[in-house]
Amino acid sequence: MVDHNEKILQELLKKPGNQVCADCGAEDPDWASYNLGIFICMRCASIHRGMGAHISKVKHLELDRWEDSQVHRMKEVGNVAARNKYEDRVPPCYRRPAKSDPQVLIEQWIRAKYEREEFCHPERQSYLSGSMEGFLMKRGKEDSRYQLRKFVLNENEDTLKYHVKENKEPKGILKLSELNVSFAPAKIGHMNSMQLTFMKEGSTRHIYVYHEDAEVINCWYTAIRCAKLHLLQVAFPSTPQSDLLLRLPKDFAREGWLWKTGPRTSDVHRRRWFTLDNRKLMYHDEPLDAYPKGEIFIGHESTGYHIKVSNTGNGCKEARFPFYLVTPERTFCLAAATHEDRAGWLTVIQHTLKRPLTPQDSTIEAILVRKRTTSNSISIFSGR
Ligand SMILES: [Zn+2]
Repeated sequence: MVDHNEKILQELLKKPGNQVCADCGAEDPDWASYNLGIFICMRCASIHRGMGAHISKVKHLELDRWEDSQVHRMKEVGNVAARNKYEDRVPPCYRRPAKSDPQVLIEQWIRAKYEREEFCHPERQSYLSGSMEGFLMKRGKEDSRYQLRKFVLNENEDTLKYHVKENKEPKGILKLSELNVSFAPAKIGHMNSMQLTFMKEGSTRHIYVYHEDAEVINCWYTAIRCAKLHLLQVAFPSTPQSDLLLRLPKDFAREGWLWKTGPRTSDVHRRRWFTLDNRKLMYHDEPLDAYPKGEIFIGHESTGYHIKVSNTGNGCKEARFPFYLVTPERTFCLAAATHEDRAGWLTVIQHTLKRPLTPQDSTIEAILVRKRTTSNSISIFSGR
């Protein structure tokens, strides 16, 4: 039998704001934090529980018993009022996580809101200052060992530097304005890890870093985003902030193994690790390579870029689901191992083809196309 309190809770769930999780936006939350007065999903509920009952007291809406006072608290607050309080001063560069985002983002968002109350006390937002330094574990370029490296972010210089020895010259200098940062925990094999991707001498370079403390990695991630937003605001003063926010780093649209072959029917299929980073489709021998083997710029569909799907086989035993990415320079013959995987790639590439180019995209296109026309194109862009 549904008791009186359960009935009230079900009614409260229908109120605006309560139909989605207060923290990640997932539909139909079936948990609640009854001291904070919010409705949340199961995933967020377990993060709330992890903060301890002095911060958040969690109950299931149907499976747990509710006291009148607890139900009263839910009625009194609710997701909208809690949001107004705990998200009062979220800086625009802060990435508000969605339900399918990596755990580190969601967990740190929840801890920032309720444990550290960063968005009630803006002076606690150290990532806004435009400078940061500290140590991260960085994967070697040639070997797979991770070593402690000192990183220094300096927005005024537009740089993120890293040092092997603290007092020596930096080993690497990355331009913030050309840097992308992405969470790729499954690939890197560490929850609190990031992939830094930037242009070096006309091609992309990847750096993989992690930190044992999730708050630290999130602070680096947010500091990079905030510095990038400030730099964009200076470079494009008349562009609305909402447009500039769309140019901040995003996680890769898709990654995975595909088989690639050259333009001749006799060319063999080679397995490559593909990564779609904004408009750059890169392929690598291995997922954690420092450099891609090749990079394909995906322009707008109005300028000669499109995809074709073939329903006939391609002679490749491992990857029987081919598709073709056509660019003004050449056609790339790719294949996925399953129908679902191909459908996933087609969706993200089609989405990219339809999206208008930003000025940053045009810069990348110019670099990659120039590289293709000036280099010995056979070795780089043939069927390796
Ligand atoms: Zn949630």
